[in-house]
Amino acid sequence: MNTQVIKIDKNNIDHDEMKKLGKIIANGGLVAFPTETVYGLGANAFDDQACKNIYIAKGRPSDNPLIVHFADIESVEETVWSISEDAKKLFHCFSPGPLTVILKKTDKISNTVTAGLDTVAVRIPSDIVARELIKASGVPIAAPSANLSGKPSPTTSRHVIADMNGRIDAIIDAHDCSVGVESTIVDMSGKFPVILRPGGITFSQIKKILPNAVIDEHILSGSSKDEKPKCPGMKYRHYAPDADVTVVEGEMHNVRKKINELLSENSNKKCGILTLGQASYKAGLVINAGNNNKEYAKNLFKSLREFDENNIDIVFAEFIIEDDYSLTVKNRLYKSAGNKVIYV
Ligand code: AMP
Ligand code: MG
Repeated sequence: MNTQVIKIDKNNIDHDEMKKLGKIIANGGLVAFPTETVYGLGANAFDDQACKNIYIAKGRPSDNPLIVHFADIESVEETVWSISEDAKKLFHCFSPGPLTVILKKTDKISNTVTAGLDTVAVRIPSDIVARELIKASGVPIAAPSANLSGKPSPTTSRHVIADMNGRIDAIIDAHDCSVGVESTIVDMSGKFPVILRPGGITFSQIKKILPNAVIDEHILSGSSKDEKPKCPGMKYRHYAPDADVTVVEGEMHNVRKKINELLSENSNKKCGILTLGQASYKAGLVINAGNNNKEYAKNLFKSLREFDENNIDIVFAEFIIEDDYSLTVKNRLYKSAGNKVIYV
Protein backbone atom coordinates (compact mmCIF):
# COMPACT_ATOMS: atom_id res chain seq x y z
CA MET A 1 0.00 0.00 0.00
CA ASN A 2 1.23 3.49 -0.82
CA THR A 3 1.21 5.57 2.38
CA GLN A 4 0.88 9.34 2.01
CA VAL A 5 3.08 11.22 4.49
CA ILE A 6 1.53 14.64 5.01
CA LYS A 7 3.31 17.42 6.90
CA ILE A 8 1.10 19.45 9.24
CA ASP A 9 2.37 22.41 11.25
CA LYS A 10 0.36 22.69 14.48
CA ASN A 11 1.01 26.45 14.57
CA ASN A 12 -0.32 26.97 11.06
CA ILE A 13 -2.74 24.17 10.29
CA ASP A 14 -3.49 23.59 6.61
CA HIS A 15 -7.27 23.06 6.74
CA ASP A 16 -7.47 21.76 3.15
CA GLU A 17 -5.03 18.98 4.03
CA MET A 18 -6.98 18.27 7.25
CA LYS A 19 -10.19 17.98 5.21
CA LYS A 20 -8.55 15.40 2.94
CA LEU A 21 -7.28 13.45 5.95
CA GLY A 22 -10.72 13.62 7.59
CA LYS A 23 -12.24 12.21 4.40
CA ILE A 24 -9.84 9.27 4.42
CA ILE A 25 -11.06 8.40 7.94
CA ALA A 26 -14.75 8.96 7.11
CA ASN A 27 -14.39 6.70 4.05
CA GLY A 28 -12.93 3.79 5.99
CA GLY A 29 -9.18 4.47 5.67
CA LEU A 30 -6.42 4.50 8.32
CA VAL A 31 -4.55 7.67 9.32
CA ALA A 32 -1.78 7.98 11.94
CA PHE A 33 -1.94 11.26 13.85
CA PRO A 34 -0.23 13.01 16.77
CA THR A 35 -1.87 13.28 20.18
CA GLU A 36 -0.41 14.72 23.38
CA THR A 37 0.25 11.16 24.67
CA VAL A 38 1.61 9.11 21.73
CA TYR A 39 0.86 8.93 17.99
CA GLY A 40 -2.43 7.14 17.31
CA LEU A 41 -3.51 4.91 14.42
CA GLY A 42 -7.02 6.11 13.64
CA ALA A 43 -10.13 4.73 11.93
CA ASN A 44 -13.83 5.62 11.88
CA ALA A 45 -15.15 4.11 15.14
CA PHE A 46 -18.53 3.43 13.46
CA ASP A 47 -16.94 1.41 10.62
CA ASP A 48 -16.38 -2.21 11.58
CA GLN A 49 -14.11 -3.12 8.64
CA ALA A 50 -11.96 0.00 9.08
CA CYS A 51 -11.47 -0.93 12.75
CA LYS A 52 -10.58 -4.52 11.76
CA ASN A 53 -7.91 -3.04 9.48
CA ILE A 54 -6.28 -1.34 12.50
CA TYR A 55 -5.68 -4.73 14.08
CA ILE A 56 -4.23 -6.05 10.82
CA ALA A 57 -1.92 -3.03 10.30
CA LYS A 58 -0.56 -3.29 13.85
CA GLY A 59 -0.56 -7.08 14.15
CA ARG A 60 -2.65 -6.49 17.28
CA PRO A 61 -4.49 -9.38 18.98
CA SER A 62 -8.20 -9.01 18.30
CA ASP A 63 -9.18 -9.27 22.00
CA ASN A 64 -7.35 -6.02 22.81
CA PRO A 65 -9.90 -3.18 22.44
CA LEU A 66 -9.25 0.31 21.10
CA ILE A 67 -9.70 3.76 22.65
CA VAL A 68 -12.26 6.00 20.93
CA HIS A 69 -11.29 9.67 20.53
CA PHE A 70 -13.94 12.40 20.60
CA ALA A 71 -13.75 16.16 20.07
CA ASP A 72 -16.06 17.03 22.97
CA ILE A 73 -18.23 15.66 25.77
CA GLU A 74 -21.46 16.24 23.80
CA SER A 75 -20.43 13.72 21.14
CA VAL A 76 -19.41 11.26 23.88
CA GLU A 77 -22.94 11.51 25.30
CA GLU A 78 -24.39 10.35 21.96
CA THR A 79 -22.38 7.10 21.96
CA VAL A 80 -22.51 5.84 25.56
CA TRP A 81 -25.44 4.86 27.79
CA SER A 82 -24.92 7.58 30.34
CA ILE A 83 -22.14 9.47 32.05
CA SER A 84 -22.29 9.31 35.85
CA GLU A 85 -21.69 12.43 37.95
CA ASP A 86 -18.28 11.05 39.00
CA ALA A 87 -17.27 10.37 35.39
CA LYS A 88 -18.34 13.92 34.52
CA LYS A 89 -16.10 15.21 37.30
CA LEU A 90 -13.14 13.36 35.78
CA PHE A 91 -13.81 14.72 32.30
CA HIS A 92 -14.27 18.19 33.74
CA CYS A 93 -10.90 18.08 35.53
CA PHE A 94 -8.71 16.24 33.02
CA SER A 95 -10.25 16.57 29.56
CA PRO A 96 -9.24 17.48 27.01
CA GLY A 97 -6.09 15.63 28.07
CA PRO A 98 -4.37 12.30 28.78
CA LEU A 99 -7.39 10.64 30.43
CA THR A 100 -9.37 7.63 29.16
CA VAL A 101 -12.65 6.72 30.83
CA ILE A 102 -14.36 3.32 30.47
CA LEU A 103 -18.15 3.68 30.10
CA LYS A 104 -21.06 1.43 29.09
CA LYS A 105 -21.37 1.53 25.30
CA THR A 106 -24.34 1.71 22.93
CA ASP A 107 -24.64 -0.25 19.65
CA LYS A 108 -23.27 2.66 17.62
CA ILE A 109 -19.71 1.68 18.43
CA SER A 110 -18.39 -1.29 16.43
CA ASN A 111 -17.88 -4.52 18.37
CA THR A 112 -14.45 -4.73 16.80
CA VAL A 113 -13.47 -1.53 18.66
CA THR A 114 -14.47 -2.95 22.02
CA ALA A 115 -13.36 -6.53 21.30
CA GLY A 116 -16.87 -7.67 22.26
CA LEU A 117 -16.95 -5.91 25.66
CA ASP A 118 -20.10 -4.00 26.66
CA THR A 119 -17.93 -1.02 27.62
CA VAL A 120 -16.01 1.50 25.55
CA ALA A 121 -12.81 3.45 26.28
CA VAL A 122 -13.39 7.17 25.72
CA ARG A 123 -10.83 9.95 25.41
CA ILE A 124 -10.96 13.63 24.47
CA PRO A 125 -7.42 14.54 23.38
CA SER A 126 -6.04 18.05 23.82
CA ASP A 127 -3.61 17.98 20.88
CA ILE A 128 -4.78 20.54 18.34
CA VAL A 129 -4.00 18.38 15.28
CA ALA A 130 -5.81 15.38 16.80
CA ARG A 131 -8.83 17.57 17.53
CA GLU A 132 -8.86 19.05 14.01
CA LEU A 133 -8.69 15.54 12.52
CA ILE A 134 -11.66 14.34 14.59
CA LYS A 135 -13.68 17.41 13.58
CA ALA A 136 -12.70 17.07 9.89
CA SER A 137 -13.70 13.40 9.81
CA GLY A 138 -17.08 14.06 11.47
CA VAL A 139 -16.95 10.76 13.40
CA PRO A 140 -15.29 9.54 16.60
CA ILE A 141 -11.88 8.04 15.85
CA ALA A 142 -10.90 4.63 17.23
CA ALA A 143 -7.14 4.62 17.72
CA PRO A 144 -4.55 2.53 19.51
CA SER A 145 -0.91 3.63 19.53
CA ALA A 146 0.54 3.73 15.98
CA ASN A 147 3.30 1.17 16.56
CA LEU A 148 3.63 -2.44 15.49
CA SER A 149 2.11 -4.54 18.27
CA GLY A 150 4.63 -5.18 21.05
CA LYS A 151 7.01 -2.36 20.08
CA PRO A 152 7.52 0.86 22.07
CA SER A 153 4.74 3.38 21.39
CA PRO A 154 5.66 6.12 18.88
CA THR A 155 6.20 9.62 20.22
CA THR A 156 7.53 11.17 16.97
CA SER A 157 6.32 10.94 13.37
CA ARG A 158 9.67 9.32 12.52
CA HIS A 159 8.76 6.36 14.76
CA VAL A 160 5.39 6.02 13.03
CA ILE A 161 6.95 6.10 9.56
CA ALA A 162 9.41 3.38 10.67
CA ASP A 163 6.58 1.06 11.82
CA MET A 164 3.62 1.93 9.58
CA ASN A 165 4.89 3.10 6.19
CA GLY A 166 3.28 0.89 3.52
CA ARG A 167 0.67 -0.50 5.95
CA ILE A 168 -1.83 2.41 6.21
CA ASP A 169 -3.33 5.17 4.03
CA ALA A 170 -1.72 8.25 5.56
CA ILE A 171 0.66 9.45 8.27
CA ILE A 172 0.50 12.99 9.64
CA ASP A 173 4.10 14.14 9.92
CA ALA A 174 3.88 16.66 12.77
CA HIS A 175 5.34 17.60 16.17
CA ASP A 176 6.64 15.29 18.93
CA CYS A 177 4.19 14.23 21.65
CA SER A 178 4.30 16.44 24.73
CA VAL A 179 3.32 13.81 27.34
CA GLY A 180 5.13 10.92 25.60
CA VAL A 181 3.33 8.14 27.46
CA GLU A 182 -0.23 6.83 27.05
CA SER A 183 -3.33 8.05 28.85
CA THR A 184 -4.41 7.04 32.34
CA ILE A 185 -7.36 4.63 32.00
CA VAL A 186 -10.09 4.85 34.67
CA ASP A 187 -12.92 2.30 34.61
CA MET A 188 -16.13 4.12 35.58
CA SER A 189 -18.45 1.30 34.47
CA GLY A 190 -18.53 -0.47 37.85
CA LYS A 191 -19.43 0.36 41.47
CA PHE A 192 -16.29 2.42 42.11
CA PRO A 193 -13.51 3.95 39.96
CA VAL A 194 -10.66 1.59 39.08
CA ILE A 195 -7.41 2.72 37.48
CA LEU A 196 -6.67 0.14 34.79
CA ARG A 197 -3.53 1.79 33.42
CA PRO A 198 -1.34 4.50 34.99
CA GLY A 199 -0.43 7.23 32.51
CA GLY A 200 -0.22 10.95 31.90
CA ILE A 201 -2.38 11.69 34.96
CA THR A 202 -1.22 10.31 38.32
CA PHE A 203 -3.13 8.19 40.83
CA SER A 204 -2.97 10.98 43.41
CA GLN A 205 -4.46 13.48 40.91
CA ILE A 206 -7.37 11.06 40.34
CA LYS A 207 -7.72 10.38 44.09
CA LYS A 208 -8.10 14.10 44.79
CA ILE A 209 -11.20 14.15 42.58
CA LEU A 210 -12.51 10.65 43.36
CA PRO A 211 -11.26 9.56 46.81
CA ASN A 212 -12.73 6.05 46.41
CA ALA A 213 -10.60 5.28 43.33
CA VAL A 214 -8.40 2.17 43.52
CA ILE A 215 -5.64 0.72 41.32
CA ASP A 216 -6.35 -2.55 39.51
CA GLU A 217 -4.24 -5.36 40.93
CA HIS A 218 -2.98 -6.46 37.49
CA ILE A 219 -1.17 -3.20 36.82
CA LEU A 220 2.16 -4.23 38.22
CA SER A 221 1.88 -7.97 38.39
CA GLY A 222 2.58 -8.67 34.69
CA SER A 223 -0.33 -11.11 34.69
CA SER A 224 -0.20 -14.33 32.72
CA LYS A 225 -2.13 -14.80 29.49
CA ASP A 226 -4.82 -17.08 30.87
CA GLU A 227 -5.97 -14.65 33.56
CA LYS A 228 -8.69 -12.17 32.59
CA PRO A 229 -7.50 -8.66 33.44
CA LYS A 230 -10.10 -5.89 33.17
CA CYS A 231 -7.89 -4.00 30.75
CA PRO A 232 -7.20 -6.66 28.11
CA GLY A 233 -4.16 -4.85 26.70
CA MET A 234 -2.25 -5.17 29.95
CA LYS A 235 -1.63 -8.90 29.57
CA TYR A 236 0.45 -8.66 26.40
CA ARG A 237 4.20 -8.20 26.06
CA HIS A 238 4.53 -4.53 25.34
CA TYR A 239 6.90 -1.69 24.65
CA ALA A 240 9.77 -4.10 23.99
CA PRO A 241 12.74 -2.93 21.94
CA ASP A 242 14.90 -5.52 20.14
CA ALA A 243 17.54 -5.03 22.85
CA ASP A 244 17.22 -7.09 26.01
CA VAL A 245 16.14 -4.78 28.87
CA THR A 246 16.85 -5.26 32.61
CA VAL A 247 15.51 -2.84 35.21
CA VAL A 248 17.73 -2.09 38.22
CA GLU A 249 15.56 -0.72 41.04
CA GLY A 250 16.41 0.75 44.44
CA GLU A 251 18.28 3.66 46.02
CA MET A 252 20.27 5.68 43.48
CA HIS A 253 23.68 4.83 44.97
CA ASN A 254 22.97 1.07 44.99
CA VAL A 255 21.46 1.15 41.50
CA ARG A 256 24.56 2.79 40.02
CA LYS A 257 26.92 0.44 41.84
CA LYS A 258 24.99 -2.59 40.54
CA ILE A 259 24.88 -1.32 36.96
CA ASN A 260 28.67 -0.81 37.00
CA GLU A 261 29.03 -4.45 38.12
CA LEU A 262 26.68 -5.59 35.35
CA LEU A 263 28.70 -3.61 32.79
CA SER A 264 31.89 -5.44 33.84
CA GLU A 265 30.10 -8.80 33.62
CA ASN A 266 28.83 -7.97 30.12
CA SER A 267 31.94 -6.36 28.67
CA ASN A 268 31.67 -8.54 25.53
CA LYS A 269 28.28 -7.00 24.64
CA LYS A 270 27.18 -3.58 23.42
CA CYS A 271 25.46 -2.18 26.52
CA GLY A 272 23.13 0.78 26.82
CA ILE A 273 22.11 2.55 30.04
CA LEU A 274 18.96 4.55 30.70
CA THR A 275 19.52 6.95 33.58
CA LEU A 276 17.40 9.12 35.84
CA GLY A 277 19.44 12.33 35.94
CA GLN A 278 23.06 12.80 34.93
CA ALA A 279 25.30 9.76 35.37
CA SER A 280 28.58 8.70 33.86
CA TYR A 281 28.96 5.09 32.80
CA LYS A 282 31.42 3.45 30.44
CA ALA A 283 28.88 1.94 28.04
CA GLY A 284 28.02 1.87 24.32
CA LEU A 285 25.22 4.40 24.77
CA VAL A 286 24.07 6.29 27.87
CA ILE A 287 20.73 8.12 27.63
CA ASN A 288 19.55 10.45 30.36
CA ALA A 289 15.76 10.04 30.33
CA GLY A 290 15.23 13.11 32.54
CA ASN A 291 15.60 14.42 36.05
CA ASN A 292 12.35 13.06 37.47
CA ASN A 293 9.88 10.31 36.64
CA LYS A 294 7.58 12.65 34.70
CA GLU A 295 10.43 13.41 32.29
CA TYR A 296 11.44 9.73 32.36
CA ALA A 297 7.92 8.73 31.28
CA LYS A 298 8.01 11.28 28.47
CA ASN A 299 11.37 10.08 27.12
CA LEU A 300 11.12 6.35 27.81
CA PHE A 301 9.68 5.08 24.50
CA LYS A 302 11.86 7.39 22.42
CA SER A 303 14.95 6.18 24.31
CA LEU A 304 14.07 2.49 23.90
CA ARG A 305 13.85 3.02 20.15
CA GLU A 306 17.16 4.91 20.18
CA PHE A 307 18.92 1.91 21.72
CA ASP A 308 17.68 -0.23 18.80
CA GLU A 309 18.73 2.40 16.26
CA ASN A 310 22.25 2.10 17.74
CA ASN A 311 22.24 -1.72 17.72
CA ILE A 312 22.55 -2.02 21.49
CA ASP A 313 22.38 -5.65 22.77
CA ILE A 314 21.45 -5.10 26.42
CA VAL A 315 19.92 -2.12 28.22
CA PHE A 316 20.18 -1.56 31.97
CA ALA A 317 17.51 0.90 33.08
CA GLU A 318 17.81 2.81 36.36
CA PHE A 319 14.57 2.94 38.27
CA ILE A 320 14.17 4.92 41.46
CA ILE A 321 10.76 5.25 43.10
CA GLU A 322 10.67 8.88 44.03
CA ASP A 323 7.45 10.60 43.01
CA ASP A 324 3.88 10.36 41.75
CA TYR A 325 4.89 9.43 38.21
CA SER A 326 6.92 6.40 39.27
CA LEU A 327 3.92 4.08 38.82
CA THR A 328 3.57 5.13 35.18
CA VAL A 329 7.29 4.61 34.52
CA LYS A 330 7.37 1.33 36.44
CA ASN A 331 4.42 -0.12 34.51
CA ARG A 332 6.04 0.62 31.11
CA LEU A 333 9.60 -0.24 32.15
CA TYR A 334 8.69 -3.59 33.69
CA LYS A 335 6.81 -4.53 30.52
CA SER A 336 9.62 -3.46 28.21
CA ALA A 337 11.92 -5.65 30.33
CA GLY A 338 9.50 -8.60 30.32
CA ASN A 339 9.54 -8.19 34.15
CA LYS A 340 13.33 -8.72 34.43
CA VAL A 341 14.04 -6.59 37.49
CA ILE A 342 17.03 -6.60 39.85
CA TYR A 343 16.21 -5.06 43.25
CA VAL A 344 19.21 -3.58 45.08
P1 AMP B 1 -3.41 1.51 23.28
O1 AMP B 1 -4.21 2.56 22.64
O2 AMP B 1 -2.49 0.75 22.37
O3 AMP B 1 -2.67 2.06 24.46
O4 AMP B 1 -4.42 0.45 23.86
C1 AMP B 1 -5.62 0.83 24.46
C2 AMP B 1 -5.72 0.29 25.85
O5 AMP B 1 -7.04 0.53 26.33
C3 AMP B 1 -5.48 -1.22 25.94
O6 AMP B 1 -4.68 -1.50 27.06
C4 AMP B 1 -6.90 -1.76 26.12
O7 AMP B 1 -6.92 -2.97 26.79
C5 AMP B 1 -7.59 -0.64 26.89
N1 AMP B 1 -9.05 -0.65 26.67
C6 AMP B 1 -9.71 -0.27 25.56
N2 AMP B 1 -11.05 -0.44 25.70
C7 AMP B 1 -11.24 -0.95 26.93
C8 AMP B 1 -12.41 -1.35 27.66
N3 AMP B 1 -13.63 -1.27 27.15
N4 AMP B 1 -12.23 -1.85 28.91
C9 AMP B 1 -10.99 -1.92 29.44
N5 AMP B 1 -9.84 -1.56 28.79
C10 AMP B 1 -9.97 -1.08 27.56
MG1 MG C 1 -0.33 0.58 22.49
